[in-house]
Amino acid sequence: AKKWVFVQPSKGFPKISDFKLEEEKLRPIEDGEFLVEAMYFSVDPYMRANMPRLPKNTTMIGGQLAKIIESKAPQYPAGKYVYSNCGWRTHTIISTKQLSDDLDLLTIILPDFGNLPLSLGLGVLGRPGNSAYFGFLELCKPKQGETVVVSGAAGAVGSHVVQIAKIKGCTVIGIAGSDEKGKWLTEELGLDYFINYKTQNIEEELKKAAPNGIDCYFDNVGGEISTTVLNQMNIFGRVSNCGSISGYNATEVPKVPSPYFAIVGKQLTLQGFIVTTWRDRWLEGIHANLKWIQEGKLKYRETITEGFGNMFTAFTDMLQGKNVGKAIVKV
Ligand code: NDP
Repeated sequence: AKKWVFVQPSKGFPKISDFKLEEEKLRPIEDGEFLVEAMYFSVDPYMRANMPRLPKNTTMIGGQLAKIIESKAPQYPAGKYVYSNCGWRTHTIISTKQLSDDLDLLTIILPDFGNLPLSLGLGVLGRPGNSAYFGFLELCKPKQGETVVVSGAAGAVGSHVVQIAKIKGCTVIGIAGSDEKGKWLTEELGLDYFINYKTQNIEEELKKAAPNGIDCYFDNVGGEISTTVLNQMNIFGRVSNCGSISGYNATEVPKVPSPYFAIVGKQLTLQGFIVTTWRDRWLEGIHANLKWIQEGKLKYRETITEGFGNMFTAFTDMLQGKNVGKAIVKV
């Protein structure tokens, strides 16, 4: 058996010296265990994204399609095919106990794909496929006629989202890194508008493609592309943060790390608001706050500047943080 060992996190783009290919001799399997032989491996952006957090000198993480070749675990009989997150190794002994203790070891017996290739279990019928299906439908909740933007549009997840969005009757704009990818997306997958982020001005192109704004954004890349898209979202737009690949190979650690990694990793929900949305309940809020003040449960402070002539000073003082509590000008 062979395995790839992750030696150390890469600085910038991954280097071969950060990995090591090793032979390993496997012991016989015991009760409750089964042995899988890999057939296909997946390589995914998250592997790069996770490198800074991986323990050094351990088997590299990753998903594979494998065949169970020996089993002493009745739920995982020999001959079945599985998807398993058991890493970059040709042969792996998996125990059912490990599977219940370590949910990240996700190992699933594949359903019958009929005549379709088994390898689809790593793509459209696997993790990227489910990321597209659930990540888009559950979070973006697309409605017919809406405008959807997909970044990383020609990749595994992105190209899938593009098509679901078309199935849902949306106008779909895809952003990716080559005209060849754009041609495939528009000519074969029905994408309505393609933007090549390497050669075109995304902001201008989005204005042309989505003159009425963007309702849903499925974000695979983060960074500047996403900032540009977010600025053109419509009110009550929905964003599904799937990944932020534009930052995965960054060579310098930014002073304040990009929020995208935390947004995805911690599965945060982002929703903006404008307070006047609750205009019909305005007095309800005032009464509730008043009651808390009267009960001593709500405290407040004010920073009061005297004189209308000092409006500007009060304003700029506030912008520089010289106020505590509410900044006010007393005429
Ligand atoms: P892809 O098949 O999309 O492959 C990665 C693509 O990213 C490349 O083809 C490249 O296409 C693009 N890319 C690379 N560098 C940059 C950059 N600097 N700016 C913009 N695009 C770039 O991979 P996946 O479909 O597997 O993954 C897509 C995203 O989804 C990733 O961010 C990944 O981490 C995330 N993901 C998240 C999951 C989750 O559970 N949240 C699950 C699966 C994936 P191009 O030519 O367009 O640059």
